[in-house]
Amino acid sequence: MVDVLSCPTPVLQDINLDTDMNPKRETPASILIIGAGVFGLSTALALTKRPELASSSITVLDRSPEAGVFPSRDASSIDSSRIIRADYADPAYAALASEAQVHWRQTSPTSLGGEGRYTESGFILGADSEPLVRDDGSPTGLAYAKKSWVNAMALAHKEGRPLSSIRVLKNSWSIGVVSGTGGEFAYWGYMNTASGWADAEASMKWFYERVTATGRVTFINGTAESLETDESSRKVTGARLKDGTTLSADLVVVAAGAWTPTLVDLSSQAVATGQILGYMDITEQEQKRLDKIPVMLNVSTGLFVIPPRNRVLKIARHAYGYLNPKPVSKPPLGIPGTKAPEMVSQPITHLDDANLSIPPDAEKILREGLQKMIPWPELKDRPFSRTRLCWYTDTTTGDWLIDYHPYWQGLFIATGGSGHAFKFLPVIGEKIVDAITGKCSEELRRKWQWRSTESEIIATEDGSRGGKPGLILEDEMKK
Ligand SMILES: Cc1cc2nc3c(=O)[nH]c(=O)nc-3n(C[C@H](O)[C@H](O)[C@H](O)COP(=O)(O)OP(=O)(O)OC[C@H]3O[C@@H](n4cnc5c(N)ncnc54)[C@H](O)[C@@H]3O)c2cc1C
Repeated sequence: MVDVLSCPTPVLQDINLDTDMNPKRETPASILIIGAGVFGLSTALALTKRPELASSSITVLDRSPEAGVFPSRDASSIDSSRIIRADYADPAYAALASEAQVHWRQTSPTSLGGEGRYTESGFILGADSEPLVRDDGSPTGLAYAKKSWVNAMALAHKEGRPLSSIRVLKNSWSIGVVSGTGGEFAYWGYMNTASGWADAEASMKWFYERVTATGRVTFINGTAESLETDESSRKVTGARLKDGTTLSADLVVVAAGAWTPTLVDLSSQAVATGQILGYMDITEQEQKRLDKIPVMLNVSTGLFVIPPRNRVLKIARHAYGYLNPKPVSKPPLGIPGTKAPEMVSQPITHLDDANLSIPPDAEKILREGLQKMIPWPELKDRPFSRTRLCWYTDTTTGDWLIDYHPYWQGLFIATGGSGHAFKFLPVIGEKIVDAITGKCSEELRRKWQWRSTESEIIATEDGSRGGKPGLILEDEMKK
């Protein structure tokens, strides 16, 4: 390993990944956050709370085309619903989610969970009958579900909740009964009454209003096209916008979700994958019948259903997703001496193409999944009123990427949500600012650091994903 500070043109394997790129902890006079999703907005609020940053200016830039709308309506953080659970196979995320749940459970009208933003509906986490380990050694959905159950029990004990709040469902029949729909959608699972779901769009709006109320943060509508650098000092100095203007800052935090790899070369770190959702209109009577169902997720198939609201039922799939490799107009900022990627998987959303649909096979998968979870004949052939491709920023382990860039000073990356970061909205910013200011615990710092792996294909192998890795969106659309 070489010392990165004295190496003019390092190659990736030469970089000491433990090197701290802000060793002096100089207080940045200006901070630019690119992206107003969960990562960016939560960071902005946490920055306003730190006394040592009281005189730093904070700017949030988002490509949202609508003035005053942050984040953009096609951001991953915007949707009708997101699951809020501490049901994780990894105890570190279970513990952090439990911290976040304290905020979600505050349900006075002015609190995060109020006015229907959070509903503790209960949650069935299920899996198919399968071995615990795949041939390649990675965990299966069943392994994920069993570990998650152990962690959920430990949390119930720690939080002083009765252990009966978590109920093992040892066969598909019990799952069908507890689901309330008759849906025998998994072979083994458990019901956790202390989990639920959030209205994602309403929660983000509440959070945005919180951030603006501090009076500390300037929001700008605009798209960063590239990062500005001073090569002699190896420093990122700001961002150049599509309209030709430049925003300068001492510290640039790139929290651009699935768009991050188009700005910073994350070839060995994270990749944008498109995930499928279907929304179905239901009748008032059907809404009443489904009012009290829990959230249902099968981690072997990745399929999940969230209880409906306003007569719209949502089904989605937590999968390996689709890659959308496209040439980049400007190469993302990488490490000098390494080859810049010519093609980067990048999001395409309903804002790029109002008629965007999902691959025909995907629609079939959602329909079959819905029938397993809600096996009602009247829903079997009902068309989806709307479908959506929503973009994950996936890492190989499902761990986030929250770290200084290993080469460029003044550049901090906060992304890699891997399809599970929404629930952390009230706490993730504090962790990101801890990492910026060097106060992150050693365990979390190591978990979220720039990775030394150079995987050929990035596919999240944490046991929670359905489908097949490596599918190309364009090919699947043609089928
Ligand atoms: C289908 C789906 C289901 C999910 N379900 C759950 C769930 O049930 N529970 C859960 O906890 N999590 C869930 N997640 C994951 C969670 O929603 C994401 O991890 C989280 O929202 C990611 O936040 P983000 O800030 O990284 O990205 P985003 O919310 O996408 O925000 C990034 C922002 O950056 C902006 N931006 C991008 N490029 C630029 C640029 N060049 N210049 C300026 N601005 C830019 C974008 O406009 C966007 O607003 C789900 C995600 C999806 C897609």
